[in-house]
Amino acid sequence: MTELIFRDDAYARSCTARVMLADVRGIRLDRTVFYPTGGGQPGDTGTLRLASGAVIAIVDTIKGEAPDEVIHVPAPGTLLPEPGTELVAELDWERRHRLMRMHTCLHLLCAVVPGAVTGGQVSDGRGRLDFDVPGSSLDKEALAARLNQLIAEGHPAQPRWITDEELAARPELVRTMSVKPPSGAGRVRLMEIAGPSGCIDLQPCGGTHIRNTAEIGPVTIAKIENKGRQNRRVIVAFAE
Ligand SMILES: [Zn+2]
Repeated sequence: MTELIFRDDAYARSCTARVMLADVRGIRLDRTVFYPTGGGQPGDTGTLRLASGAVIAIVDTIKGEAPDEVIHVPAPGTLLPEPGTELVAELDWERRHRLMRMHTCLHLLCAVVPGAVTGGQVSDGRGRLDFDVPGSSLDKEALAARLNQLIAEGHPAQPRWITDEELAARPELVRTMSVKPPSGAGRVRLMEIAGPSGCIDLQPCGGTHIRNTAEIGPVTIAKIENKGRQNRRVIVAFAE
């Protein structure tokens, strides 16, 4: 099993690790800072730096079949390292930080749009959520103003763990119908954005987030699309 450093410390940019297995699918390490594609957030890119001086470019990170199995996908044609090889795994931090900012921004979007979330995706510099909003239209400028206000107010964002039983007893916590919360080990990771008068957003999420909403920076609502009678797709982009 791989130690998932990003789960407790999303700001860890690099770590030392040892190769457990390397095959056609990619490289498994005993510990990693690389987030694998999941929950609407793309997998990390970066490098694996070997003691020999060789550098392996990692172009994607995906989940394996086993729980907590992370597969680092090397660039095509890479000579794979032997099991036991010691290395330093280092993220493309600039890209990951943008993904963290946008991912956390989508949590705020959840809080400002009424209606169930039916899907979502974070990409570099942009993000989108689909909402089930029967019989109502969304005001682009009003949404952007509310979102930027929550960002500028600088609310803390932090993970919190609850048991599977506690989550089962509070189904309202699961806002995103299409994204299954990471569970099965008896506990579930929640992401909480706390406001001065209660919680702004609280939901199960295994992704990576920034510590304070101010770190997101100004955003715009790029577009609101009608995807079916009551499905609205809201697309957010960084303003700068
Ligand atoms: Zn999240």
